[in-house]
Amino acid sequence: MKVNGYAAIEPRAKLTPYSYELGAIGAEQVDIKVSYCGLCHSDISMIKNDWGMTTYPFVPGHEIIGEVVATGDAVKNVKVGDKVGLGWMSSSCMSCEQCMSGHHHLCAKGEGTIVGRNGGFADYVRGHWSWAIPLPKDIDLSKAGPLLCGGITVFNPIILAGVKPTDTVGVIGIGGLGHMAIKFLKHWGCEVIAFSSNPNKKKEILKMGASQVINSTAPEELESITGKLNFILNTTNVSLDWNSYLTALAPKGKFHTVGAVLEPMAIPAFSLMLGEKTVGGSPIGSPALTKTMLDFCARHNIYPEVEEFPMAKVNEAIEHLENGKARFRIVLKNQ
Ligand SMILES: [Zn+2]
Ligand SMILES: [Zn+2]
Repeated sequence: MKVNGYAAIEPRAKLTPYSYELGAIGAEQVDIKVSYCGLCHSDISMIKNDWGMTTYPFVPGHEIIGEVVATGDAVKNVKVGDKVGLGWMSSSCMSCEQCMSGHHHLCAKGEGTIVGRNGGFADYVRGHWSWAIPLPKDIDLSKAGPLLCGGITVFNPIILAGVKPTDTVGVIGIGGLGHMAIKFLKHWGCEVIAFSSNPNKKKEILKMGASQVINSTAPEELESITGKLNFILNTTNVSLDWNSYLTALAPKGKFHTVGAVLEPMAIPAFSLMLGEKTVGGSPIGSPALTKTMLDFCARHNIYPEVEEFPMAKVNEAIEHLENGKARFRIVLKNQ
């Protein structure tokens, strides 16, 4: 089968139409006809080869919503005609300790949808059946794409940290990831405090469910919540004054990052020891938890705020995101 998509030919190149032959389907693989695909910051990092693992021509796209159109002989759980989502990962070994204990996203042999293979900025994409997540019946397909990468990235920490509905929590950085975190935590039952450096977003952030927006560039505002937060989720990838956030944690509080801060994070040991605080991080989440998250979203009508672009205008969409104009997540639609 011939696949038509958009690829970067070299690092930082604009995407151009690109076709490739998919080849015979593997026994455990499914082919998905792509209806929508979210545009994630990771796609841009990969186009630029920021992480040194991009192969060219490079077809980005790992927040895929579509329909199963072909299945290998040994496929389980999904069938032709099913609506599914495919996120950052497209395959895992299904036999290592992590896979066997349900943590497929931690599989050392796991395969990324856009790492060494072609992603979802195309009419078709292929993946292992275990990562083709069946979608709830009533979910809004046009908005669900970003849940498959960005959504599960901020949902998993809520489970990992054991966040309780009675907790007061903080979210740092209210962009593509952070705004989804606010919605999840609000529906979880928490009181949510947002940290943002952009005062123009305040009204929107309160509408998403935050009870308070703290200007993260004003130290006195941070001081006003000293010792109050049970959990803080960092979604930014820039170096901040981490200690001031640790000070905002209540005893036994947890600071969790999903923002890929490239510099080492300076964490004073005393800030952790005295209040029995912990610092952690995580990547996406397992297929089972992704399914749970999608059900939670359908039940509570939780969706990212999306701006839709036709797939053919992918370069405009990328520019929009790179210029910091996205409110708050971009979805590409196949015609
Ligand atoms: Zn992503
Ligand atoms: Zn494995």
